[in-house]
Amino acid sequence: MSESGGRASEPAFKARELDASDELAGVRSRFVLDDVVYLDGNSLGALPAAVPGRVEDVVRRQWGELRIRSWEESGWWTAPERIGDRIAPLVGSGAGQIVVGDSTSVNIFKALVGAVRLARLGDPGRDEIVVDATTFPTDGYIATSAARMTGCTLRPVTPAEVPGVLGDRTAAVLLNHVDYRTGRLHDLPALTAAVHAAGAVAVWDLCHSAGALPVGLDEHGVDLAVGCTYKYLNGGPGSPAYLYVRRDLQARFDSPLPGWNSHAEPFGMRPDYEPADGALRGRVGTPDILSMLALEAALEVWDGVSVESVRAKSLALTDFFLECVARYVPTGRVESLTPAAHEERGSQVALRCADAGEVMERLIERGVVGDFRHPDVLRFGFTPLYVGFGDVERAARALGETLGAGGGAAG
Ligand SMILES: *Cc1c(COP(=O)(O)O)cnc(C)c1O
Repeated sequence: MSESGGRASEPAFKARELDASDELAGVRSRFVLDDVVYLDGNSLGALPAAVPGRVEDVVRRQWGELRIRSWEESGWWTAPERIGDRIAPLVGSGAGQIVVGDSTSVNIFKALVGAVRLARLGDPGRDEIVVDATTFPTDGYIATSAARMTGCTLRPVTPAEVPGVLGDRTAAVLLNHVDYRTGRLHDLPALTAAVHAAGAVAVWDLCHSAGALPVGLDEHGVDLAVGCTYKYLNGGPGSPAYLYVRRDLQARFDSPLPGWNSHAEPFGMRPDYEPADGALRGRVGTPDILSMLALEAALEVWDGVSVESVRAKSLALTDFFLECVARYVPTGRVESLTPAAHEERGSQVALRCADAGEVMERLIERGVVGDFRHPDVLRFGFTPLYVGFGDVERAARALGETLGAGGGAAG
């Protein structure tokens, strides 16, 4: 091999080249970061630099000085819809279909019970809820309760099995766009079409896709969707989640949590509930303004950034990570659970590894932060807005050194 060929094949050299031609490289300066390689943005996104100042203003001026006037003058009352419209282009939604508020878990409840009610408008006999059996636990717990409350039978199946179990008894189907453990990207267009062909209602959980890849909610005719904002949307710990209700379903969306904030006339203080029009029908009670306005400031990092460019970089990052792992990690020590095919890959790489918990502790000591998922998975999330190719190379090298140096189990 020639000298230049040898150099070009060095991962560290390649990382510098990739970083030099990365059109998103400058976005990293919109975040507060240090020299830790942060590969856990799929659990808690990093802090956008605009957030502390905004939170200070919201607390000191809007709350401290304007006090109750801020509900009007600082736009507090309309924040759930306004911030929903800010998230909308990131998930392929037109304006007026997303409200922000409550946790993902609560929104799954609203969406799933709402979905069963919608399905039964067309056919009252529908009595099954299909749920991804491998889902993030909260989705399964909520689906179990939603099934009990609506008198439905719950059918937990793998996403691949979903088309085979759909039928005229299916009311609603709750699916994850990207599997939180393996990073597998599911086929949202095809699965949504299959659910619709059965006359059922599709509910998608976007926690691990929104902000990392194009979702295309409107384009693919998704009925209802939910997602959190503290992962790839960097809204901060416990930042409020969101609920999407497709425009043509809004008039029939019957929320199981009809609070005064979704009343047609909230300040009429009337004893009878009459739902508001539009997406704000998904609201419940008084919004968590401090978190919500921190999220609004966090979303400014997206100014001038397209989800398509984020997706392109995300795939390049995960490809490069897998390449560096193959190069640095002793053969057989890890096994990738993340699909090799781009169309089946989210923005994370999950590696099965003996003693994964201990291995991750060592990586964190070395300044490489990913996470461990029980029982044997090392999970590395790649947030293209602030992770570079040099970070990827360093992480893989640290992993190789940790495992090569006798880290983890011997066998
Ligand atoms: C992160 C995540 C959640 C989190 O739910 P919370 O109510 O915000 O705690 C739910 N579902 C999935 C698939 C997730 O990845």
